[in-house]
Amino acid sequence: SLQSRLGGVFDKLRGRGALTEGDVEEALKEVRTALIEADVELGVVEDFIKKVKPRAEGEAVIRSVTPAQQVVKIVHDTLIETLGSEGTGLQLGSPPAPILMVGLQGSGKTTTSAKLGLLLQTKEKKKVLMASLDVARPAAMEQLKILGEQAGVPTLPIIAGQTPLTIAKRALAAARVGGYDVLILDTAGRQHVDEQLMAEAAAVRDLTNPHETILVADSLTGQDAVNIAKSFHTRMPLSGIILTRADGDARGGAALSMRAVTGAPIKFLGMGEKLDALEPFYPERVAGRILDMGDVVSLVEKATETVDKEKAEALAKKLKKGAFDMNDLFDQLNQMKKMGGLQGLMGMLPGVGKIKDKLDEAGLDDKILTRQQAIIQSMTKKERSNPDLINGSRRKRIAAGCGMEVSDVNKLLKMHRTMSDAIKAMKKGGRANPFAAMMN
Ligand code: GDP
Ligand code: MG
Repeated sequence: SLQSRLGGVFDKLRGRGALTEGDVEEALKEVRTALIEADVELGVVEDFIKKVKPRAEGEAVIRSVTPAQQVVKIVHDTLIETLGSEGTGLQLGSPPAPILMVGLQGSGKTTTSAKLGLLLQTKEKKKVLMASLDVARPAAMEQLKILGEQAGVPTLPIIAGQTPLTIAKRALAAARVGGYDVLILDTAGRQHVDEQLMAEAAAVRDLTNPHETILVADSLTGQDAVNIAKSFHTRMPLSGIILTRADGDARGGAALSMRAVTGAPIKFLGMGEKLDALEPFYPERVAGRILDMGDVVSLVEKATETVDKEKAEALAKKLKKGAFDMNDLFDQLNQMKKMGGLQGLMGMLPGVGKIKDKLDEAGLDDKILTRQQAIIQSMTKKERSNPDLINGSRRKRIAAGCGMEVSDVNKLLKMHRTMSDAIKAMKKGGRANPFAAMMN
């Protein structure tokens, strides 16, 4: 598995502080192989790796998991982000809202049309009409009719010898007259993308002007996925993708590839031949399938939580004793950065409106947090745990070490003092806000 392969790479890393560029690069070689094995298209793989790399580098190593597991979690999170949001359902225009189903032959257009019809009719209480524009194969129209009967969704009566455009016009008219909410148009497909297929679908699109143009694609499509999606998308902007045969042993690579090149959301997954086998798209599930490493991800999530909890508990213990040193202040500044910096933090505190205005006036921004941390980093270990040591000459040295003025160091020390006083007061039952000191 990916994990065992990465395990070898990372065994030598154990006990180090942060993931370095070289380590991450070595690990990502294995991730690359895993993605290609999951049938993600090569160009998409490269783009994806480029996105993950800077995120993994410099990440602090969590002690209770291996660095390999940690990289997997980062890869997993980036995968979910790239796969996009949860299936958002369909955007229907004013009735009769046309939904155009396009895709290659055998991709599952006709089946998926009937599935969508059933879903819209039962779950969203829409009045649905379906029409097949597939004049290429005589049995195709009959197939939609039979599926419609099974689903209890009406289909446009079949008239032999009409062109797709004529049928589309007739379908629109029938949908209007019949007071239908939705008109699902199932089109013909071909073995391969070709000009005639595109021209036919584009003409229907121009005639019906659908809010939804859905590309139906087989999730077993490998490296071809990108070409198929691109060709359709350039001829007629896709509003969504439905991947069929997700019940098979496809690893989900096509989902990543198609989403990456079109930016169109994946709306549903086809999970079988039965008409109720259509599920909303959940990026977590597909990411899990691509990586095949669900347990690792939840393990790392737990470990991360624990680290934060351990730190918070340690700080609480110290505060109880009334101690608050520079290391604590440093962590606190980190915490503030995570919470959206000064602006974000102040939004959460009551009664800081005035201070915020003052801050804005002074042109202070979140860079100040980083500058304050730089001052702390310029202190020795002893100074950090015992700030009372910091006399005049030490202040000069600290300022020089971080390229700032002694007055900056003084401000930080004053802020620290005010904060630890406030903490002591809080301990005695007062309600002083230690963060207020940071705003002066
Ligand atoms: P079309 O040529 O694009 O209209 O494809 P069809 O709708 O005729 O489907 C081709 C075959 O794929 C049929 O046998 C369907 O039952 C099957 N099929 C479609 N969607 C799925 C799915 O999600 N899972 C499985 N296992 N089979 C599917
Ligand atoms: Mg068909």
